[in-house]
Parts: sequence; C-alpha cells; structure tokens
Amino acid sequence: MKHAIDTACVHAGTIIDETTRGTRTPLYPSNSHLHLSMDEDVYPRHSNLPNQRAVANKLCALEQGEMALMFSSGMAAISTPLLTHLKSGDHLLVQSGIYSGAASFARRHLHPRGIDASFTEGTSREAFEQALRPNTRAIYVETPTNPLLGIVDLAMIADLAKSRGLLTLIDNTVATPINQNPLAAGIDIVLHSATKYLGGYGDISAGVAIGPATLLTPMIETINDYGGCLNAQTCHLLERSLLTLALRMERINHNALKLAEMLVAHPNVSSVRYPGLSDHPGHNIARQQMSGFGGLLTFEVSEDLDLHTFQQALRLVIPANSMGEVATTLNSPFEASTSFRNLSEAQQKAMGVSRQMIRMSVGIENIDDLSADLDQALQR
Ligand code: PLP
Repeated sequence: MKHAIDTACVHAGTIIDETTRGTRTPLYPSNSHLHLSMDEDVYPRHSNLPNQRAVANKLCALEQGEMALMFSSGMAAISTPLLTHLKSGDHLLVQSGIYSGAASFARRHLHPRGIDASFTEGTSREAFEQALRPNTRAIYVETPTNPLLGIVDLAMIADLAKSRGLLTLIDNTVATPINQNPLAAGIDIVLHSATKYLGGYGDISAGVAIGPATLLTPMIETINDYGGCLNAQTCHLLERSLLTLALRMERINHNALKLAEMLVAHPNVSSVRYPGLSDHPGHNIARQQMSGFGGLLTFEVSEDLDLHTFQQALRLVIPANSMGEVATTLNSPFEASTSFRNLSEAQQKAMGVSRQMIRMSVGIENIDDLSADLDQALQR
C-alpha cells in the first residue's frame, strides 16, 4: 500500500532484525562478511550494505523512485551519474546559476574526458532549446538554486528532453522531496546533498541519487571505481534524520515564508528573494511544482548597514557557511563564493548578486524569536 510522504518518512525502508524484533533498523557496521552463505560480496563500495539499502529504500519512497544509491557527499552524488552516463564526444547542457560546486565540476572535470559542458543564458524553454547541440546527451538543472533561488519549469525540461531523447538530472537539495518530486514531473535522476535538509541536524556529510534501476545500476560500477560510497554509520544517522523530515520541512516552510514577509516590510532591507513571494519571477512555476517553498531565502540589506556589524549583532541566528539544518544560519554569498566575486559588475547586476546580499537558511525555531533577532540586528 502506498502511503503519504509524512508516513513514508517514518516507516519506509525500516529493516526489522529477526533476532531482537526491534522496531528500528539496527546498525550493521561490518565491512567484511562470511562468504559461505552469500552469493554476492557485501561491501561498502558495492552499495549493498543493509544500512545503505534501508536508507536508500526510504529515500525511494520519498522521491517516488525505483532505486537509490548512497554517497559520501552531495558532490559524489552529482559527479557519479555524470561520469557514468556521459561519454567522450557528448555535450552536457547545464542551467545557469546552479550551485557553484556542481558548476565547477562541470567546468573542470568533464572537458579532460572529451565531454563538453555549457551553461544556458536563462531558464526559459527558448534558453534551453537555443543552447542544445547535435551532440547534447543530458540536461542538468537545479530548482530552486542555491543561493539565488532561480526556478526552472520541470515539466518543460522533461518535455523538451523527451522530445530529443535526452537524459535529465536535477539537484533537488534546496526543495527536498517534501516540497518537490521531480521524478513525478518526468525528470530521470534526482540528486541531493543529504548534508543539508535530509540530514537536517548539521552533523553529517552524505548524498543520494534516485531514479530508475536502468540508469542507477550502471552507477554502482562508478562508485566502486571512484570510491564515493557512504558508510553504514552515516546511513544509520541519515535514516534517523529522515524520520522527522516532513515535520521539519513543514515548520521550515512556514518560518521561511513568515521571515520573507517580515524582511520585505523592513526599512533596512532593500530586496528579498523567495519563491513563495508573489513578486519572485518564478513564483507561478514554483506554485505549480512545489507544495512548499522551502527554507532558503536571500535578501539585501541597505547600503548603510555594514554586513559584519549586522552578523555580529545576531544573538540567535548563526552566521555559518552550510545550510539546511534545524538552526537558522546565514552567510554572505558574495564573500563565500569566488565565482560571484570574479564576475564583472555588469554580470553581477544581471544575476542579482551584490555585496549587501545575505543567504539565510531558515530553521525550526520559534518564528517570533527569529523575527525579533533579525529585527534587532538590522537596526545596528
Ligand atoms: N547541491 C547543493 C544545492 C548544495 O548547496 C551543495 C553544498 O552546498 C551541494 C550540492 C554539495 O553537497 P556536499 O557539500 O554534501 O557535497
């Protein structure tokens, strides 16, 4: 029987150990397994540990996928399908404005393998169509993007790709499966940095790829050769984290929308970008393909407010580089990313990047406490 996603967070994938009949999946830490009773080698790099399978099965249920593979980081989850499914002579079309780590993988590591990667000029159908080449093999997208909250229409991407026989991949980290299920929209492979919302407590590094077995099975060989597998202990922690994913995201969606609205009205904030706001350029598409708008937002503080003074004045919100955890964190994308600093002033303007910009990852704290903390720090 198929259950709702919040039920799947709690129950899907759990392995009941026959020795104890405990209700939670046990931790199976062994790297080495007796051959006598097994017909396959159970080993972390082979992606067949019981804890890898348990958490992968839960993630399949959440993303409505057939198969999932676990990775040691989000970047391992991103690089592995590209290294598996692209061959010399292929072209990869990448949406502009995606997470800088994925963009630099596409720029630095595909060309030496004879694979071309290029970036679109925007996110419309025309932008993708114009950038296709005769040898395009796959389209890679991210929506919403980190940190600029760009939105791309997933049904449009799936339709375009299917009409040309192309593979589609999406980084669904910022949305999470609670807010957006790209496989149901026709995308082939969904990727996550589980270091963020899926892990949710700011204390693990992990990644996952989810999709049909025909596309995922060949990736096991790449994991085996490159070694980006996830250990049993972290799988066990991630499985535990996912028990509360729906609850966390419900609160995070609520808090983020409230804070976006509070910041819009704040005299010391000059702009706010959040897909849940009606003036966001991707708002209508986001409303169609997302059931909640997620926890990431960016805003610009007014020119006369010093960013360091603002961050130092915070008493609750934590200035920190990562995102997607229970605590509200923020940072300056301009300071964190050389890819933004290296753009020309005109390019920065076109992308909406500025020195005064703050990326905030909203957590599960009490909304009044968060609002009061931001307000007092913005008064400095
Ligand atoms: N995708 C997105 C949207 C991210 O924000 C990040 C990291 O910040 C990654 C992927 C990479 O994840 P990891 O740091 O787990 O490799």
